[in-house]
Amino acid sequence: MSKQVWLNDELIPTENASVSVFDHGLLYGDGVFEGIRAYNGRVFKMDSHLKRLYASAAAIRLEIPYEVDKLRQAIRDTLKANERTDAYIRLCVTRGFGSLGLNPFLCKCATVFIITDDIKMFPRELYDHGMEVIIAKTIRNPAASLSPAIKSMNYLNNILAKIEAIDAGVLEAIMLNDRGNVAEGTGDNLFIVRDNPQAKPELVTPPVSAGVLEGITLATVAQLATDAGLSVSRADLTPDDLFNANEIFLTGTAAEIIPVTKIDGKPIGTGSPGRITRQLSNAFHDYVNNNVSED
Ligand code: PMP
Repeated sequence: MSKQVWLNDELIPTENASVSVFDHGLLYGDGVFEGIRAYNGRVFKMDSHLKRLYASAAAIRLEIPYEVDKLRQAIRDTLKANERTDAYIRLCVTRGFGSLGLNPFLCKCATVFIITDDIKMFPRELYDHGMEVIIAKTIRNPAASLSPAIKSMNYLNNILAKIEAIDAGVLEAIMLNDRGNVAEGTGDNLFIVRDNPQAKPELVTPPVSAGVLEGITLATVAQLATDAGLSVSRADLTPDDLFNANEIFLTGTAAEIIPVTKIDGKPIGTGSPGRITRQLSNAFHDYVNNNVSED
């Protein structure tokens, strides 16, 4: 059976799943999306993803033409149609078919589609040995231009930073904000770990005000770390905080947890994935495979 895509309330073969060249999602990157994952037949944090999707849509005044329960079922139906228990799920809501002008309100109805497929963000060996990244010169969009808290279909800001990384011979870039503080990776959030001689290690990740997406993996990892008795806080981080960290890792639905062991050619900590990163990575995999709730 050919692969199926859910498009505007219909499951159709992938090869027939197309949207108009007049769709404002294509013409202007006008839309929102979620990257979700299914593990062991369960959609991980489905409710959190759907909540963020509707919040992103509301922020750009895009009306999703379906109730949340309908989309929840559509995700399940798409997984089932493709006989998948484990998958990367891409749920997109574009502004829909319109005219060539910018006015989004001339688009009559949003286009909604759901793809279930595989995603491999980084090669496996980087998870074992650590990844080298750069700090991009391209800064993250300031919130007053396009808030990084909105998961919009307009990813050019991130793509420009990604190109810098690839040009430098690495696979990921850390983006700073307009104040020179650390924001996030091009498709992931960032944590640093600081060892404390007298106390438990401390995890720090930038606050939303630093210009980051409120990551669902970030929230999961923060909870797992707290449960493990580690201290977790949100604070502005400078590039120096990165170079002085004992460990750094990135988190995201596609990336999961990946250690960063070199930035701009300089080793972080011992230059190998650290103990806390490994501990949280193991805890994360246990959790995603065994957590029965979809919230
Ligand atoms: N930041 C950006 C820019 C992203 O694209 C993503 C991936 N959605 C993340 C952070 C991580 O978010 P999440 O853990 O919810 O996938």
